[in-house]
Amino acid sequence: MASVKLDNIQKIYPNGFKAIHGVDVDVKDGEFLVLVGPSGCGKSTLLRMIAGLETVSGGELKIGDKIVNDLEPSKRDIAMVFQNYALYPHMTVYNNMAYGLKIMGLSKSEIDERVKNVAGILELTDEQLTRKPRQLSGGQRQRVAMGRAIVRKPSVFLFDEPLSNLDAKLRVQMRVEIKRLQASLGITSVYVTHDQVEAMTLGHRLMVLNEGVVEQLGTPIELYERPASLFVAEFIGSPSMNIMDAKIGAEGSSVDITKDISIAITSDKLSSYAGKGVKLGVRPEHLEFAEGDENALPLTVTLVEHLGADTLVHGHFGDDKTDMTVRRSGILKAVPGDQLPISITRNHIHLFDTNTSRRIDL
Ligand code: ATP
Repeated sequence: MASVKLDNIQKIYPNGFKAIHGVDVDVKDGEFLVLVGPSGCGKSTLLRMIAGLETVSGGELKIGDKIVNDLEPSKRDIAMVFQNYALYPHMTVYNNMAYGLKIMGLSKSEIDERVKNVAGILELTDEQLTRKPRQLSGGQRQRVAMGRAIVRKPSVFLFDEPLSNLDAKLRVQMRVEIKRLQASLGITSVYVTHDQVEAMTLGHRLMVLNEGVVEQLGTPIELYERPASLFVAEFIGSPSMNIMDAKIGAEGSSVDITKDISIAITSDKLSSYAGKGVKLGVRPEHLEFAEGDENALPLTVTLVEHLGADTLVHGHFGDDKTDMTVRRSGILKAVPGDQLPISITRNHIHLFDTNTSRRIDL
């Protein structure tokens, strides 16, 4: 096992496009790091550089104590699991898993022991080991792809959206399985996804990338509770955080949402914003219905979605019809056209600088 250390890593493609602008991260031995960000932000580029499938244009990349910038992929002691499984179609499941070990020069008996052992861990039956990949379901194929990575006992696992071809139920199963396996094997892992739930649940730490720049790196809870920028605030969490224009009162002791509705706040940090506009964020699950509260926002309901366990109420408020989504547990009986009073509590608000989009710490 090994750490993976990126020091000011950069990628400029041959056409001159700078896809990665200097990423620093120290993935500790045994740690599970998840990379998230919108399409095109550079997640795959970064992962492929760690794998050795893309050249590194600048900075230093270390696996364990070794600088690997120029080391070929097969010498990096990594295993990669892809979205499309990348299994050999003409080989049996057994041989798909054994192939890498043969190349490593292991004996037949050792190969057999490793393949059987990993098949057991992944609950692949002896009969399934004799099949070709096309005779397996998507979930089973993904399990073989995982198996092929695990048998090699690599120092580092790299996952490139491995679950995105699976249906919703299998995705959940495999997600739990990957988390359990990573914890029990303790193999340092880097996992690329754009799935919110995978991002929140799988990793010890989460890195949010935006146009090749790290927006924030921290535990999922840190990112959820204290997003460092508007970008992270809107990206982490589903449905997204509600963002609205607000103004800090002339005394710097209130956040005014409309001319009648404001939240009292005492914080030295706000004095420099007195009288200025800010962005106010509040998560859908932190909005409350508050019958009889004079300081509540009047939400005009436009759409209600019943998710079963939760209800999402979409609507707008104010003269400029600012959008807002409220998430409440259980089944809420609201219909389009209803007017619901919504209260925002001091403890659940996030403020961002309008110019820099960075968080204003209170
Ligand atoms: P997705 O989630 O859609 O897979 P991603 O975050 O993994 O996206 P990358 O595939 O890493 O994004 O691409 C990052 C940026 O680099 C994109 O703007 C992409 O167009 C660009 N890019 C990728 N490969 C090349 C290439 N070979 N030459 C030039 N630009 C490239």
